[in-house]
Amino acid sequence: MNPLLDFTDLPRFDAIRPEHVTPAVTELLAAANEALERAVSDAVPADYEALSAVLDVATERLGRAWGAVSHLNAVADSPALRAAYNENLPRITEFHTRLGADERLYAKYKAVAASAAAQHLRPARQKALSNAIRDFVLSGAELQGPAKARFAQIQERQAELAQKFSEHVLDATDGYAYYASEAEMAGVPDDARQAARQAAQAEGRDGYKLTLQFPSYFPVMQYGENRALRERLYTAYVTRASELGEPEHDNSDVMRELLALRQEEAQLLGYRNFAELSLVPKMAESPQQVLDFLRDLARRARPHAERDLAELREFARAELGLTELAAWDLAYASEKLKEKRYAFSDQEVKQYFTEPKVLEGLFKIVETLFEVSIRPDAAPVWHPSVRFFRIERNGQLVGQFYLDPYARPGKRSGAWMDDVRGRWARPDGRLQTPVAHLVCNFAEGVGGKPALLTHDSVLTLFHEFGHGLHHLLTQVDDLGVAGISGVEWDAVELPSQFMENFCWEWEVLRRMTAHVDTGEPLPRALYDKMLAAKNFQSGLQTLRQIEYALLDMRLHAEPGSHERIQQVIDEVRAEVAVFPPPSFNRMQHSFSHIFAGGYAAGYYSYKWAEVLSADAYSAFEEAGVLDVDTGRRYRQHILEVGGSRPAAESFRAFRGREPRIDALLRHQGMA
Ligand SMILES: [Zn+2]
Repeated sequence: MNPLLDFTDLPRFDAIRPEHVTPAVTELLAAANEALERAVSDAVPADYEALSAVLDVATERLGRAWGAVSHLNAVADSPALRAAYNENLPRITEFHTRLGADERLYAKYKAVAASAAAQHLRPARQKALSNAIRDFVLSGAELQGPAKARFAQIQERQAELAQKFSEHVLDATDGYAYYASEAEMAGVPDDARQAARQAAQAEGRDGYKLTLQFPSYFPVMQYGENRALRERLYTAYVTRASELGEPEHDNSDVMRELLALRQEEAQLLGYRNFAELSLVPKMAESPQQVLDFLRDLARRARPHAERDLAELREFARAELGLTELAAWDLAYASEKLKEKRYAFSDQEVKQYFTEPKVLEGLFKIVETLFEVSIRPDAAPVWHPSVRFFRIERNGQLVGQFYLDPYARPGKRSGAWMDDVRGRWARPDGRLQTPVAHLVCNFAEGVGGKPALLTHDSVLTLFHEFGHGLHHLLTQVDDLGVAGISGVEWDAVELPSQFMENFCWEWEVLRRMTAHVDTGEPLPRALYDKMLAAKNFQSGLQTLRQIEYALLDMRLHAEPGSHERIQQVIDEVRAEVAVFPPPSFNRMQHSFSHIFAGGYAAGYYSYKWAEVLSADAYSAFEEAGVLDVDTGRRYRQHILEVGGSRPAAESFRAFRGREPRIDALLRHQGMA
């Protein structure tokens, strides 16, 4: 039997082979298509349970099987698996696009919502139903005739333009090279020098090949002592894909057309601008609320940014002989100042964070605060280093998770949480408990010693575990809004960033660290330096993020902005930047988040979620960071409810008031 078609319990990761993929997808897609046809026919009444029993059962199977394939593609890549993945991905995408635009299905959902029984559905189901209808409307389901045709045309053109934008940025980045001399490379770290040397040699050239790829560009900006070289690279970097660079990579027209199309799309759907449309499924209520939020934060961060800059200027003048600080000196001077002030190395810190001790500490916090126990469990896995755990409360299974901790060939870099399956009171009466993947890329321990984690890696582990808890501790029984499903996009980082706070608590670190050789906990003096370095230039960094977020929000909230993009960015800089970049800086031309990613009128969400997580955590600071009662309330009001109600309501239920930005400012040393 094909293991991808076995849904009795956990995925059979040890048995799935590339040759299973296409037959399984073919069978599951056929079943899903059949379910769709049945769901929209008169055979299925306009009833939530009846519709779910037909359609959700089939699409969930497809999702679980494809999830297993995607997961293996990410953590155990092989040419055969990659081929099978790429062959089937368009089939999966096509099905979901068609499902999301099926007018008969939309009519069925509307009929369910209009039925007398709909008023008696439990709140989570009402939310899942209204989300489904909202998504159809935002995909143009209510449009008729020429408006509908135009909407489809706009979608298609936007996808093309986003792709063009990325290609221009990529080609402009790859198309640049400068061959530096030995003397020009002074100060650049060895690994970056060697890479540049090899790149030049590969082309049969002398010197060092520098490009605008980040690993080549940034070490020069950060460590390069040759100021003219820094200026040269900076200038090339910030004019990428603009009218000041190669004409064939100029994104000016792409940006103009994209913004105009987004405005038109919003108007077709009855909104005044694209920002309003973008915020419909988000936590923020209006563009004005976001603008006010960003400006308030800017006002409060400004004195700290001015102080950061004054310190940097003074240091650069006195110690580096830079009388006039330029944009291409910022990273360089900042690095020198940081080295001088907080001399410690990641290497030194790492010796105290052994993997078993860190995991034990993390589990202890979770067990204490959320009243669960975490125990080793068994399941088929894709690699012998992968572990599997179960979370229980009072002997009852709550959820399970895989932990794939180490980097290895064939595994994608980075760290992430992914769902294997969601909590669901299935139509057949069984309760399905949630399962999650936690994937990291730590370096495995050598010489019989445990893996040593940098503090950054510890933060990453806690962050991803926070996403995992959101998915695993849910008590919602409806698949579409259980765990992380249906959570607003600008609130989804709350539980993850929340967990990071523990990694900065002395009481936590003291117990979570043991030197790999001596067993000693982290020394207090080293901790104090880490904490001070954490907030280095937080004022400047905050204002930089606000500059990007304000630019994004204004471009999408002001009809006609496509005709004056440069003017908007100039105004934003005049308003918030304490160190305005040179007038030739064209960062907007490579701002892929908003022109080629999913962040259009959404860049603010980074800061927005940080405010929520810091403010939620401050409740623990007030009560004691391991206060069980506060942990229970956080779990019940935020983690367990998942996407079953608006995040703003969940936050108010936990905190007893609206979010405030004070805690974030305090955590970042800006109080
Ligand atoms: Zn995250």
